[in-house]
Amino acid sequence: MHHMKFIATIFIVGTALAVGGLFENTQPRVYRVVLDPGHGGIGSTDIERFGDRFDLLSKRYLSPFAEGASHKGLWEHALVYEIAAKAKAILDYCASGNDFSKFRTILRRYTDEEPKQILIETSLSRGDSKNREEILARKDPNAEYRLYDYPGENGAILPARISRINAKKPHLVVCLHMTRDYSHTYRGLNPVIVAPHSLLHEGLLYLQGKIINKDFFYKSPYADWFQESNKKNSFYWFLSDVASYFTGYPLDKHGKLDLKSFKGYRYNMVQWLYRDAPGWEEKARTHPPDSRYASDIIRFMPEGKFWQREKSIFESYRRDGGEEGFGGDNMYATSEIIRYILFSLHLKGEDHPHQKITRPYISTWSVPLLVNAVTAFVELGSLSNQRHRYLFTQKQDEIAEGIAVGVYSLLTGITLRKNSYHYAPKGKRIVFERYRTIGGTSYFDQPAE
Ligand SMILES: [Zn+2]
Repeated sequence: MHHMKFIATIFIVGTALAVGGLFENTQPRVYRVVLDPGHGGIGSTDIERFGDRFDLLSKRYLSPFAEGASHKGLWEHALVYEIAAKAKAILDYCASGNDFSKFRTILRRYTDEEPKQILIETSLSRGDSKNREEILARKDPNAEYRLYDYPGENGAILPARISRINAKKPHLVVCLHMTRDYSHTYRGLNPVIVAPHSLLHEGLLYLQGKIINKDFFYKSPYADWFQESNKKNSFYWFLSDVASYFTGYPLDKHGKLDLKSFKGYRYNMVQWLYRDAPGWEEKARTHPPDSRYASDIIRFMPEGKFWQREKSIFESYRRDGGEEGFGGDNMYATSEIIRYILFSLHLKGEDHPHQKITRPYISTWSVPLLVNAVTAFVELGSLSNQRHRYLFTQKQDEIAEGIAVGVYSLLTGITLRKNSYHYAPKGKRIVFERYRTIGGTSYFDQPAE
C-alpha cells in the first residue's frame, strides 16, 4: 500500500513538471536544499598545492585554502559537518518515500497545527573531513573542499563547491560556520550577509568621484560593514570591498586600486549561467578601459551577464529589504535558522545569555554572492566561548533539529505555539513565487550552464 502511494507520488510529480513547470499552482513540488558545512580541506602557504581561487589569467591559485577555525582541540570543519549531517538526517524524513510521520512528531513540539507534508530533497555540499592524514595523502587534498573551480590532472577545469551547489539548482542553501574568537559586540550567533548591488554601485560612483556625500553608506542599514582590521574604518573596508567586487583589485592603504593584489573575476571562477563567454580571458588579460576588465576604476564599466544579474529584481529580493528590514530573503532566512536553533535549545531547557542573535557580518562574501539560491549563512558561535563549546559538542542534536525545522518553516511556514521566548522564530515562509521568471520556471531553476 505504502509502496503504491510512493509510485503514485512520482507519477504526479513527473506530470506536474511536464505540464506546468516547477511552480504548479503556487509552490514547488519538490524543494531542493543544500546544507553547506564550511571548510574541510587543508590550509597551507604552499598555495600551488593547497590554494583556492584559481585564476584563469595567471593560471595559478590566488589565495590559500581557508581551513577554518580551531581552538583547544575543537575544529570548525569537523563540528559543522557533524551538525549538518544530523540536520540532513532529520530533513530526510521529508524526502520522497520516507517516513514523514517522524518529522511530524518533531514539529508537534513547535506547533498545535497539523503539520503539512512537503517534499524536501536535501544534500550536503561536501563529505566529512575528520581523517586529516587520509586527506593529506590524496593527490589533490583540497579537491573536494575548494570554493572555486580548479584544474584537474589533465588541466581541465573541474567544478568546485560553489559550482556543484549551483548545479543542484537549490531553492535554499544553509552555510554553517564557527568563529575562533569573539568580541563582546559580536557574542552570540551571527548572520553573514552580502550587501545589495544598489549599495555597492553607489560605492563605485563614490570611487569614480561621481558622488561625494557618504550618506548613501552611513544612512544605509549596511554601515556596520565588516572590518578586516581596526586600522581603517568601516567606510574604507566598504570601498576596498567595492573595488574588488567590481574590478578584482582591492584598495591599497592610500585608497587607490592595489594592482599587485589581484583577487580575480570571481563570477568567472565558477561554472554557471552568468560567467563570461569562452575566450573572455584574452580580452581580460589586457584590462582594457571602458570594459568590465578595466584596471582603472574611473573607466570601469559593469557590462555582461553577471552585472545584469546583479542589477536584477531577483538579486534585490535575495539581498535587500525584506522581513528583517534589510538583507533581503538571505537575511530573513539566516535570522530564522538562528532563531529556530535558539528556540530548539530553549525547548530543551538550554538557555544562556550567550545564546542570542547578534550583529551581522556584512560584506561581499563569495558563497552568498555566487550561490544561486536563497542563502542562509550562519556563524553558530565561537570555539573559544565556553558555553558555545558545550553546545557544539554536547547539543549537536538540538542545533541540528533547529536547522531542520527552520528549513521546513522557511519552505512552507509554521504557526508557532504561543510562547514568550525572546528569540522566537516568526514562522513565515519565503515567498518563492516572487522568483518566478517569464516562462513559468523560477530564478533558481535556470540551467547551471
Ligand atoms: Zn568558517
